[in-house]
Amino acid sequence: MNSGSKSDVFYRDPTNDYPVAVRGEGVYVYDANGRQYLDGSGGAAISCLGYCHPELTSAIKNQLDSLAFAHTTAFTNQPQEQLAERLAERFRLASGDEADATRNGAKVYFVSGGSEANETAIKLARQYWVARGCDSKQLMISRNQSYHGNTLGALSLAGNPGRSKLYGPLLQKWPKIDACYAYRHQRPDEDSIAYGKRSAATLESAIEEHGAENIAAFFAETVVGATLGAVTASGNYFREIREICDRHEILLVLDEVMAGSGRTGSWFAFEREGIVPDIVTLAKALGAGYQPIGAVVAQGFIHDTIVDAFGQFAHGHTYVGHATATAAGLAVESIIAQQDLLANVNAMGTLLKKELAAVFEDHPHIGDIRGRGLLVGIELVKDRQSREPVDAALGLPETIRRAAMDNGLICYPGGGTADGINGAHILLAPPYIYTAAHVDELVTKLKRTLAPLSFV
Ligand code: PMP
Repeated sequence: MNSGSKSDVFYRDPTNDYPVAVRGEGVYVYDANGRQYLDGSGGAAISCLGYCHPELTSAIKNQLDSLAFAHTTAFTNQPQEQLAERLAERFRLASGDEADATRNGAKVYFVSGGSEANETAIKLARQYWVARGCDSKQLMISRNQSYHGNTLGALSLAGNPGRSKLYGPLLQKWPKIDACYAYRHQRPDEDSIAYGKRSAATLESAIEEHGAENIAAFFAETVVGATLGAVTASGNYFREIREICDRHEILLVLDEVMAGSGRTGSWFAFEREGIVPDIVTLAKALGAGYQPIGAVVAQGFIHDTIVDAFGQFAHGHTYVGHATATAAGLAVESIIAQQDLLANVNAMGTLLKKELAAVFEDHPHIGDIRGRGLLVGIELVKDRQSREPVDAALGLPETIRRAAMDNGLICYPGGGTADGINGAHILLAPPYIYTAAHVDELVTKLKRTLAPLSFV
């Protein structure tokens, strides 16, 4: 059985013959024909606890039995309160702000996904500056080859030509700088510190060009996921960025929709960068795929400035603070903490990179293996020496995705890696409950998938 041509579904890709997923267990998904697929990418870095996790499903069922939903214009609810408290506490610890109990802590705004979280962050940044009397601050700067989302505001941030080409006339023309992407942009005469500094300086140039008085915020993915394939910043890049944002009075928003919630081995990815953003967005692993949820964590001063000036944040969606969604998020956070899964994310991430490096050591088309925790990327090239990118016309990402499925593996290939158009990578983002045997299985299936393919 498969999706079939008579279906009434408006599919993502109507040319694809989708198997029907009927069951999940641990790190495997099963289709209606009984075929088993190993989840090597958490879907798109979502499924962090695997499928049918008994504790998680019972937390959601319990919430449904007491209160599925009560509209948050009239009520708050217990899971929203508890999850906000946990996330604000994690933010406080990540900020090294243990002693200062006088400062107002972070506030958490719950939405239904990553695009909504970034839309919310855009509006928060704007309303914050209007509240401070800086009405001219209306531009958002972001980076080329970033994701951020598919709604029009988030897509205006995203430096993703493939996804935004058709909608150009509908999007904001906001300034973009290059990503910090050592494999392509670090010069032979630079070390990572020098490159990180040079890359961060491009933000300062963009600010000077457009005027700090016109810029509300700078948005970046702390570890770039779907569009670059798990690229971490070089040297002290984010420290430099933080300093530039402070000096020019621009808010720093980190998009951790993919890299956060433990995916890169710390709850917030920024913990490894030695800085604290003004706003951070979360989604994906926060609900582990069991419920649609996203969150915007904003420093207390942003909340307080807006409330003092306007009484409230001018925004809202039907499902803000949804009780069942936040109950799922609360259970996910608890399971990760109680089972110390971040230690497993770090251990399995190291093992995965090591095994990939060993298996693909001599592969002529694997240019780079990179990432942090269980967000790992493999950049594919035409030629390993010259790093010439694979041609977009080859359609390699979709070929790999389908071939991997035929080999019983779910992975997340992407294109446009090198320059937004050409280049390709495979993103691996397995559930945090992976064992060494799952890592072996993933690497074996990936090797089998790539073996017969042409990269030129
Ligand atoms: N930001 C990042 C970094 C993402 O990877 C994604 C999704 N791939 C989004 C935002 C958008 O999230 P959603 O698809 O839940 O709207």
